[in-house]
Amino acid sequence: MDISQLFNTDLSITQQIEHPLFNERTVKVYVKRDDLIDPYVSGNKWRKLKYNLLQLKTLGKNGVLTFGGAYSNHLLATAYAANKAGVKSVGLVRGDELNVNSNETLSNCADLGMELRFLSREEYQKRNDKDYISAIMSEKTDLLFVPEGGANYYGMIGCQEIIKEVDEDFDAVFVAQGTTTTSCGILTSLKNELLYVVPVLKGFDSVAEMKKVLLSGGMDLSYVDDVLKNCRVLSEYHFGGYGKYTDELIEFIRDIYQTTGLKLDPIYTGKAFYAMFDQIKSGNLDGQSVLFIHTGGLQGVAGVEDKLGTKLFD
Ligand SMILES: *Cc1c(COP(=O)(O)O)cnc(C)c1O
Repeated sequence: MDISQLFNTDLSITQQIEHPLFNERTVKVYVKRDDLIDPYVSGNKWRKLKYNLLQLKTLGKNGVLTFGGAYSNHLLATAYAANKAGVKSVGLVRGDELNVNSNETLSNCADLGMELRFLSREEYQKRNDKDYISAIMSEKTDLLFVPEGGANYYGMIGCQEIIKEVDEDFDAVFVAQGTTTTSCGILTSLKNELLYVVPVLKGFDSVAEMKKVLLSGGMDLSYVDDVLKNCRVLSEYHFGGYGKYTDELIEFIRDIYQTTGLKLDPIYTGKAFYAMFDQIKSGNLDGQSVLFIHTGGLQGVAGVEDKLGTKLFD
């Protein structure tokens, strides 16, 4: 099995979308549809896994171990990609009150053959601690460690391919931000576009986090400072923080679906699209051509619908 061909990224087309507001403000909006790559291994999660999984063979490993929360897109993407590649997967999950039947994300992971271990929140805090990881991996020498969210150098270089697949030129690019891995990949592959990042976490220091990811890739500080000049952080669109959303955001997502047919999720892409929409509305992008990166995440909608007690799209 050629791991680089596990999912077909040709399905991620770039498409223009229409909305009365865009016409009014003379803005052209295009969407890079990474959500179309696969319903489970949505968008950027495959981008981030690809070069991680490509190391398996050279390192002589036969599976991966990673971390994720109860509704983690990354956990499910890892379970699915590992299943498809015919290798093992182990998922360490935040919350020892959970089990494989707690929700659909977790039961899907288990059905795909992922071995799940549920960690106390206290233990989960150590997920990026070097000594803790070494201790865990010393008992799992056949597995490759992939950090939560696929947030490492291999994840970042996979995300550089998103922009390389786009032929057109733009003035601005918009993307949702969690660990910053995707935005760092995009930032380091842009030509002259300005990158607007929309962190979904509250009180998140985007620039410091991006610096960390970029420097971990061996890039030197002057280059890192230089590329970061092409980045603008829109930190006012987290809607309360990670996993939080408001009625206004839900209404917005439904409205965009009705007017454009585009499905967004309330955790990541809905917030980023709202931010872009708001910037267009306020006239900051008049006359510009804008690319929105649809990073996927639609599998997470089920969890939101459980809480809302209604369907998000009908
Ligand atoms: C994980 C995820 C992100 C965040 O990507 P990072 O590389 O962690 O910044 C954005 N959008 C969706 C849909 C995601 O699932």
